[in-house]
Amino acid sequence: MIYRNLTALLAAFISILTACSGGGTHTYSRPLMGTIVNITIIADSKREADAASEKAFGAIEEIERLMSPKSEAGDVYRLNEQAAYRPVRVSDGTFMLVRRANEVAARTGGAFDISFAALERLWNWKDPNFIPPNAMEVARALALVNYRYIRLNSAASEISFAVPGMRIGLGGIAKGYAAMRGMEELKAAGVTNAIVAAAGDMQVAGSKDGGPWRVGLMHPRKKELICTLLMRDGDAVSTSGDYERFAEYGGVRYHHIIDPKTGYPARGFVSVSVISKSPVDSDAYSTALFVMGPGKAAGFMKEHPELEVVLIDEDLRMSASKGLRERIVFEEVVGVAWR
Ligand code: ADP
Ligand code: MG
Repeated sequence: MIYRNLTALLAAFISILTACSGGGTHTYSRPLMGTIVNITIIADSKREADAASEKAFGAIEEIERLMSPKSEAGDVYRLNEQAAYRPVRVSDGTFMLVRRANEVAARTGGAFDISFAALERLWNWKDPNFIPPNAMEVARALALVNYRYIRLNSAASEISFAVPGMRIGLGGIAKGYAAMRGMEELKAAGVTNAIVAAAGDMQVAGSKDGGPWRVGLMHPRKKELICTLLMRDGDAVSTSGDYERFAEYGGVRYHHIIDPKTGYPARGFVSVSVISKSPVDSDAYSTALFVMGPGKAAGFMKEHPELEVVLIDEDLRMSASKGLRERIVFEEVVGVAWR
């Protein structure tokens, strides 16, 4: 009895000790980038964590201001209004991100293409009376979709569009950039253990309570986790799914990841997660692989071992990179093809 009390006392003492030495976990959430941005920081003092999170949110607010298509003072809005008529000078961040987007476009044969935005306008997923656009409208918009029509002048930080009516949208890459910039600000403020997550786009630093940060991946068809990833220092993960934003018509699901070749939602996958060291890459390539579909994605993965993936196809068959074998914990027994 005494022994048990002593053990309890010792356990309490140890937990007090770790609370003092290991520091506390501080969490922050703000509605930004059209979603909720969550920041978790392990730090000795709340004041330190508060100040660091303030810096990170400040950087992400700036990204939203520059890159939201609705922000009239922002770069993307101005580009969509003017870049077909004259070169538009943009901030360094926007210029860099558009260039990265076009690099991903070139490497993925145009599966990722920010000029897909001309098509995006045809889809009103939120409308309760949703009707998919007709073939004519889609064909007309498709003529405006080609990342090669986006002209970059790095000396002047100017962007122009080769074809009137063109638009761009950074929805497939900006949340990764937000996670990256948020983490950079935390690091600059001296934080070593943290996670910055813009919904499904996130990056971790260091560890949590002596173990790795754990990130859950959602089951694409149930409101529960399918598995948990054990993250290494600096790892970034993004997930693209057909279950976030979609509408149904005539028994068919129309979701928000558009194949720039057809103008219609990409078919073949229901969920694609990419783990890399860069949240920008993870974000853009998760969208790109989703568009490629199982056939093309397989070949691409062979050429890009730096990207690790968890893929779930239309028949809910799961496959994942071999390198993740020791780093995935499944919620229940599921068959996985390791590639
Ligand atoms: P989420 O926005 O749910 O995190 P993704 O990272 O996959 O999911 O991004 C999907 C978003 O990317 C869409 O909402 C749209 O803004 C944009 N997008 C859709 N199709 C493409 C595409 N082919 N190339 C580039 N961006 C795309
Ligand atoms: Mg993405």
